[in-house]
Amino acid sequence: MSVSRISHASQYFLAKAWSFVSLCRYAHVPVWVSSRRKHTNSQQYTAVIFDMGGVLIPSPATLAAEWELKNNLQPGWIWKTILSGENYVAWDRCMLGELTFEEFVAVVSKEKQIKPYLEAITSQKEYQIPAMREAIQCIRAEGLKTAVLTNNFWFKHQSFLPVEKVDFDVVIESCREGISKPNPEIYKRCLERLKVQPTESIYLDDVGRNLKPAAQLGMVTIKVGDVTTAIQKLESLLRFPLHGYVPGTQTVHKHMDIPTDCLKEYLQTTLGLSSAEPLTLRQFSHGQSNPTYHIRSGNRQLVLRKKPPGKLLQSAHAVEREYRVMKALGSMGVPVPKVLAICEDPSVLGTSFYLMEYCQGRIFKDPTLPGLSAHQRTEIYSAMNHVLCQIHQVDVHAAGLEDYGKHGNYIERQVHTWIKQYRASETRNIPAMEQIIKWLPENLPTHEKTTIVHGDFRLDNLIFHPDKPEVLAILDWELSTLGDPISDVALSCLAHYLPPDFPILKGLNNCDLTELGIPSDLEYLTMYCDNMGINPVKNWNFYMAFSFFRVTAILQGVYKRSLQGQASSTKAETAGKLVESTAELSWMFAIREGFRKFKSIPTRNPNPPVRKYSTWNRQRSSATNFLSTLSLNNHSKHLLSVHKGHLIISPEGLSPRVQELYHQLTMFMDKHIYPLERELTDHQRDENRWTPNPKMEKLKTEAKAKGLWNLFLPLKTDPEIKYGAGLTNLEYAHLCEVMGRSLHAPEAFNCSAPDTGNMEILLKYGTEAQKEQWLLPLLEGKIRSCFAMTEPHVASSDATNIEASIVEEGDSYILNGHKWWISGAMDPRCKLCVFMGKTNPQAHRHRQQSMILVSMDTPGMTVIRPLSVYGMEDPPGGHGELLFENVRVSKENILLGPGQGFEIAQGRLGPGRIHHCMRLIGYADRALQLMKERVKTRVAFGRPLAEQGTIMADIANSRIEIEQARLLVLKAAHLMDTVSGKEAASEISMIKLVAPNMALHVIDRAIQAFGAAGLSSDYPLAQFFGWARALRLADGPDEVHRAVVAKLELKR
Ligand SMILES: Cc1cc2nc3c(=O)[nH]c(=O)nc-3n(C[C@H](O)[C@H](O)[C@H](O)COP(=O)(O)OP(=O)(O)OC[C@H]3O[C@@H](n4cnc5c(N)ncnc54)[C@H](O)[C@@H]3O)c2cc1C
Repeated sequence: MSVSRISHASQYFLAKAWSFVSLCRYAHVPVWVSSRRKHTNSQQYTAVIFDMGGVLIPSPATLAAEWELKNNLQPGWIWKTILSGENYVAWDRCMLGELTFEEFVAVVSKEKQIKPYLEAITSQKEYQIPAMREAIQCIRAEGLKTAVLTNNFWFKHQSFLPVEKVDFDVVIESCREGISKPNPEIYKRCLERLKVQPTESIYLDDVGRNLKPAAQLGMVTIKVGDVTTAIQKLESLLRFPLHGYVPGTQTVHKHMDIPTDCLKEYLQTTLGLSSAEPLTLRQFSHGQSNPTYHIRSGNRQLVLRKKPPGKLLQSAHAVEREYRVMKALGSMGVPVPKVLAICEDPSVLGTSFYLMEYCQGRIFKDPTLPGLSAHQRTEIYSAMNHVLCQIHQVDVHAAGLEDYGKHGNYIERQVHTWIKQYRASETRNIPAMEQIIKWLPENLPTHEKTTIVHGDFRLDNLIFHPDKPEVLAILDWELSTLGDPISDVALSCLAHYLPPDFPILKGLNNCDLTELGIPSDLEYLTMYCDNMGINPVKNWNFYMAFSFFRVTAILQGVYKRSLQGQASSTKAETAGKLVESTAELSWMFAIREGFRKFKSIPTRNPNPPVRKYSTWNRQRSSATNFLSTLSLNNHSKHLLSVHKGHLIISPEGLSPRVQELYHQLTMFMDKHIYPLERELTDHQRDENRWTPNPKMEKLKTEAKAKGLWNLFLPLKTDPEIKYGAGLTNLEYAHLCEVMGRSLHAPEAFNCSAPDTGNMEILLKYGTEAQKEQWLLPLLEGKIRSCFAMTEPHVASSDATNIEASIVEEGDSYILNGHKWWISGAMDPRCKLCVFMGKTNPQAHRHRQQSMILVSMDTPGMTVIRPLSVYGMEDPPGGHGELLFENVRVSKENILLGPGQGFEIAQGRLGPGRIHHCMRLIGYADRALQLMKERVKTRVAFGRPLAEQGTIMADIANSRIEIEQARLLVLKAAHLMDTVSGKEAASEISMIKLVAPNMALHVIDRAIQAFGAAGLSSDYPLAQFFGWARALRLADGPDEVHRAVVAKLELKR
């Protein structure tokens, strides 16, 4: 479906579905309807197909005749020359797209007179014939499809198509198709793409031989000589006028016709219009449950809006209210169409109606505002914001509208009304809707202002000045009343969260708003608050949740009627899915609101927030059962009995807030990380690899904007949630596994080693000044850091071995040492090195070491070379070999105090090790996923690999090992949360052993199943393998961890 089809479909559906009142309040509204109304008069025709030259744009033959006359050439000479000999062959090839127009011109340019003519063909300014364009607009307004079917060519690297493409559902160009008219194949393609039968279509061409195959296929043909005559012929076939087009209108529906004589008489007596002038009527197709007509009488254009015919609910279709509010607001300077008269006498036109001036201008159906610059878009949205404020600033008493609705509790009343509406049309259980129905009444706003509310304030209900960013008129006041103004602001931001292909209202979700120049919903809200001079709205998420809830209730009404009506099952199913997706959006905002409230608990609260280590209600029993089946040792059992926490074993068990983060993170990975993986890996091999990749920087900005930032900082370290997201280690474990699925992901979320460990020690042990200088820029992702402990000349798995010295000298320390495998040291953004050395070699072996903060630009520091793991350098951070020669550092840079280094190192490695292990689960799970995809599609020895017994065994073993390792990692994280890292030492060492070894096995099996491809850089497997192997050494070799487990076990 082309863009224009989608927008047309949505408009039509909007007409029937979106206008809030029309849908649910009134029973007569039609059910889910087809996306285009087929004009009843046009009978069998559903599509009109146009040739281009000579039909849509002036004929090249006519131009040739003029050219020949002007240049004293024989009539017909130009085209005779083009269509003869080798010129003809070249022309034919040009139409088939084998030669460009420029190449064709070169072939024929030996005929000196031809070249300037050909250049003239492509350089005309005004192309499209206006009468034909208007005819097309009229055809489309009636719901028929249109296509252009042309023999054309490539010109200046584009196909030559000087027509308005938005006017066509299908465009068939010979140079793209590689076939040209009169080949019947090209006509068939056109019909196929239009999805119409030949007999349902009309074809217009100026060349007889091109019409012949169309007629043979069964299409009705019109030979275009004179355009006016051709349009008349088309009109007589279609049986509706092809002139007098007014944007947004179509011919009047038969059952909506109004007696023109009575109307004429009324216009004469009330407005003094001349009865001598012919009166033409068209009907607006957009969004009105009250039929709305365009009237043209001479030069005067009016709009008439009336109640629909038939039996109506009392208080429904209150055109009198609309008239009243528009008249009042117009007098208060709000831009509304000027109302002229109201007639409540049903004897005139059958029902009450009112008249207003027709306001000409731009209506934007597409919120991305295609065709405008970023600056113009910003202006349009701020004009929209401005007029909304104008409505809300109206003094209801001065406007005489104080009795226009009830005062106060608007949201509460609305919530109850829409719950009732929803229940009345409910067809199945929608979990998100049940949750929101419970949540809304419990979270109602405590303070509400009362102003005029529009009730359906959207971009496409505004008429803008043709050139300026100025709203000329606000339409559709059917839902207006007195109420809470923020509901209007939220309603105007719905599009921000709907996908661009949402069939009812084209959305802005996933569009790059900054690039487009469109304010985000929060920027729009801030703009509103500034314009109104009010404080920021804190519970914005509530209003968004409420708005999506209301939309869901409306859509459910539509869905129910679609089930009862004649809608096709596919359409009904689509409607059903929409209901669920808007319900989920509503619940998403409720979760956000919960998150906001949680975060807004005062940070100086004497009782800092205590997390409930609870699984989700529905999961609780299974989680508890699961715990009881675990063979925990007495120590762990004791710890778990002391702390009421539950071990959350799957993301579904996480709190709604963390589930939302998990969901956002997964979406971010799908949308941004995986598609970019290849490019990021390639960058690591090119010559610029030691400079940061701008694409990664962009990812960081996007992740930050989505709140997917610094998720690693544990709640225990940051209890006031000042720096991180306030997650427990267990919660982060689930998220970190997702990040581990791509080697590039952790950095994008500012969650990569060694920065995470360094940030944690700065937060735990740093002074305020140290935090200010290093922690804040690290948290913001502005700088990076490294951690220097390992030395080439001593066995560094035993930290007491290290030889680097930190010697006191006056106000400074002098550092000397040789370090290697210092991750991140090569990165130009690396500004901080956490250096470990000995301040007192004579002290107790665990009190000799200290840690000190060293700025990377301190004299005496030299980065000697980057090291590599299986040839992988891991740029731009790399793993550097560093020399420290008499490096002078201020005493203030010492961390915690002299002799505390060993203690800090222990504290640093706990969470860091856990993070590595969580990521390793991610590597392994991704490797298994890739393996499964691969073996399902590759066949060896007559069977898919997936059916080979050994492969099945490998898959099973991998899954079992992943699950085992994950449970152990989650348990370690849980213990870190509920007890201290020290008490969780055994589990931390266990996972540091288990996770890399498990990952190596799983990845190795995946590599094997991939064949040689598994070793290549086309897949992440080889890299996963390399880094999993390195993690059997980094942060301590396996043997050291095994020794810890054994020692602790022996002590028990
Ligand atoms: C990719 C990568 C990144 C790294 N990043 C950093 C970093 O940022 N900062 C940093 O300071 N260091 C870093 N390291 C270094 C890492 O921490 C050390 O390599 C590790 O601690 C082991 O020290 P070592 O290399 O000196 O090995 P050694 O201490 O020499 O040990 C060698 C081997 O001896 C054996 N062994 C040691 N102890 C025992 C024991 N008790 N029982 C039995 N056998 C034993 C083990 O097999 C061990 O592998 C990194 C390493 C890698 C591979």
